Amino acid sequence: MSTSDRMTRELIEAIANVVIAHVNELTELDRAIGDADHGVNLERGFKAVLQRMDTIAVMPLGKGLSEVGMTLIRFVGGASGPLYGKLFVVIGKHVDEAGVVCRDTLVKAGEDAIRVLMALGRSDVGKKTMLDVLVPVLDELRFVHGTDALPQIRRRAHSAAQATVPMVARTGRAAFLGERSQGHMDPGARSSELILSAVCNYLESRPGANL
Ligand code: ADP
Ligand code: MG
Repeated sequence: MSTSDRMTRELIEAIANVVIAHVNELTELDRAIGDADHGVNLERGFKAVLQRMDTIAVMPLGKGLSEVGMTLIRFVGGASGPLYGKLFVVIGKHVDEAGVVCRDTLVKAGEDAIRVLMALGRSDVGKKTMLDVLVPVLDELRFVHGTDALPQIRRRAHSAAQATVPMVARTGRAAFLGERSQGHMDPGARSSELILSAVCNYLESRPGANL
C-alpha cells in the first residue's frame, strides 16, 4: 500500500501508545528474569517519540521510522534501546527507498534489520530474546498474502512470544539466571509482539488492507 502523510503520525502513535499502555506488564516480566526496567526503558523512549511527534509527523513514513529509531537509541538505554533503535532505523531506510509498504519491502527490510540486530547483540534465535519473535514473524511474512495476512502475522507474533516461556536464556541479563530463566516470557519478546500487533492493527484499520 502506498504511504500517506497521515500514516507517519497514525502508525507511530499506535506503536508508542501500545508500548506505553503495557509498561507495567513489561516491567514485571523483566523483574522475573532481569532488572525490572524494560517497561520504563521503552516508556521513556516512546514518550520522547510522542513529544517529538509534530516534527516526525511531517516526514514521509520511512524517514519518520528512522527518526523514531534515533530517538529510541538516545532515550531508551539498556540492551533493548540500541537494538530497537537500529530496527526502526533500518526498516525506515528500506521504506524510504521503496516509498511503499508492501510485503517485498517489509521482507527485505526485516532481513536486513535482523542481520544488523544479530551482529549488534551477538545473538541468534533460540536464546530467549526479542529475536525469537522477530525472526518467526519474518518467516511468516515471506509466505502470507491477502486479507488474512495481518491476522496470521499477529497470531504468529503471539505464539512466538509464548514460546519463549520454556526457553533457557542464553543472551543478555537473563542468561545469568541459567535454567531459572525458564517459566517466564522474555520481556523483549513480549514488547516485540506488542509492537508488531500494533502495526497489524493499524494496517488492518486502513481501507483495502492486505499484504
Ligand atoms: P537490559 O537487559 O539492559 O536491562 P531491557 O530490560 O530494556 O535491557 O531489555 C531486555 C530485553 O532485551 C530482553 O528481554 C531481550 O529480549 C532483549 N535483549 C537483550 N540482549 C539482547 C541481545 N544480545 N540480542 C537480542 N535481544 C536482546
Ligand atoms: Mg532490563
